[in-house]
Amino acid sequence: MSYLLPTYGKFPLTVVRGEGSRVWDDGGKEYLDFCAGIATCSIGHCHPALTQAISDQANTLMHCSNLYHVPQQEKLASLLVEDVVKTPGKVFFSNSGAEANDGMIKTARKFGHAKPASNGDARYEVITFSMSFHGRTLGSMAATAQKKIQVGFDPMLPGFKYVPFNDIDALSAAISDSTAGIMLEPIQGEGGVNEATPEFLQHIASLCKEHDLLLMLDEIQCGMGRTGTLNGWQSICPDLQPDTISWAKGMGGGFPIGAFFVSDRAINHDGTELSSLMDAGSHGSTYGGNPLACAAALGVLNTIIDNKLCENVSCQSKRIQDEITSWQHSTINNIRGKGLLLGIGLNSDALNPPEGTTPALLLCLELMENGLLTVPAGPDTLRLLPPLNVSDSEIDEAMKILKNTLDSLSKI
Ligand SMILES: *Cc1c(COP(=O)(O)O)cnc(C)c1O
Repeated sequence: MSYLLPTYGKFPLTVVRGEGSRVWDDGGKEYLDFCAGIATCSIGHCHPALTQAISDQANTLMHCSNLYHVPQQEKLASLLVEDVVKTPGKVFFSNSGAEANDGMIKTARKFGHAKPASNGDARYEVITFSMSFHGRTLGSMAATAQKKIQVGFDPMLPGFKYVPFNDIDALSAAISDSTAGIMLEPIQGEGGVNEATPEFLQHIASLCKEHDLLLMLDEIQCGMGRTGTLNGWQSICPDLQPDTISWAKGMGGGFPIGAFFVSDRAINHDGTELSSLMDAGSHGSTYGGNPLACAAALGVLNTIIDNKLCENVSCQSKRIQDEITSWQHSTINNIRGKGLLLGIGLNSDALNPPEGTTPALLLCLELMENGLLTVPAGPDTLRLLPPLNVSDSEIDEAMKILKNTLDSLSKI
C-alpha cells in the first residue's frame, strides 16, 4: 500500500545508494546507471565537488528570500551568461524545468505586448513541435505537442500552435499576426531522441528575424554539456543566437534547480533590452535560486567546465556508437542523438514484445535485470544517458550487457 498518487508507472526497483556511474538497490545489487535520473546526475552520483558544495552551503545558509541579494545567484548567473551562453543576457532561477519553461513563455507574452501586431493587438502565440516535451505545468503541458500528456486536462492554456518537427514549409505557413515566438528542444528527449536538422534551426532563426519572433530553446535535457557541447544547439548549429533558453536537469547534478536566460538584445530603436521586459514584480519564486541550489549548480557547472567533460562526452559517444554499429544487430534500426543523449531505435519485429508492453520497455526491464539502468523514449527507442564523466571501462561494461541482453531477447 502506497500513499503516493499513482502518477508514475514505476519499475520494480528501489535505489538506495550511488557512487559515480553506479547505484545499488535495497538488496545490495549493483547497477550501471545509464539513466542518471533522466539526464540529471550529470557528474555521477555523490561527486565530491557536489556533495562538498552542498554540505558547505548547508552549514552556512540554506535559504534566504529573493527579497535580499543572494551572492551565489549572481555567481551562477554570471557563469551561465559569460561562460555557457557567451551572449549578453540575464537569468532567472526556478526549481524545475517546467517552471523555467513557464517563465520563458511568460517572457514571450511580455514581448508580444511590447511589440504588438500591426492592428495593435498583443501577440501571444508560441509555436511548438510534434513530439516535443516541455513539462507538466499548465503552461509547459500546453506547449507540449503530445496528446498523451494533455489527455484529461482540457481546456489547454490557449496560445500554442503545433507544427511537425523539421518541417520547414509547415512552420512558415503556421506563422500568423499573433505569433510571438518559436520554442523547441534542439534535440527532443522524451519524444524519442529526435534531432533538429541544421537547416531547420537556421530556417527558424531566419523566420524569427523576418517576423520579429523570439527564438526560444528548451535545453532542459540537451543542455549543460549533455551533447558534447556546453549548449545542445551548438552540436547542430553552432552560431545560432537564441533569445531565451531554459535549463534544468543536468544543471544541479541531482539537486533541484532550473533557470531561464533572456537575451539583452535591443527589441526596438530606443534600445529597450528584451531582458528588461521581465521587470520588478513580473515574475517570482520563493525557493528559486536559493543559496543551497545555486551552490550545488556552481559545483556541477564548474566541474563540467574545469574537467573538460564535453570532450569526454564526445569521446564516449563515439565509443558507444562505434560499438553498437559494429554489431549490425537485428534488433536495432538506428542510433540517434548527440553526445550522451543517445536513442537506440529498436526493431519491434525482432524484439516481438508481449501484449501490453513496448520494445523499449521490454528491453529496459531486461537490462535492469542484467544490471544496466536505461530509460525508454517513446515505445521504440531506448535512451542512454550516462553521467558526462562516465569512463571507457564503464561504457564497455554497459555495451557488453546491452549486447548480451539483445542477443537473448532476439532468440526468444
Ligand atoms: C524534463 C524536461 C522538462 C521538464 O522538466 P521538469 O524538471 O520535470 O519540470 C522540460 N523540457 C524538457 C526538454 C525535458 O526533458
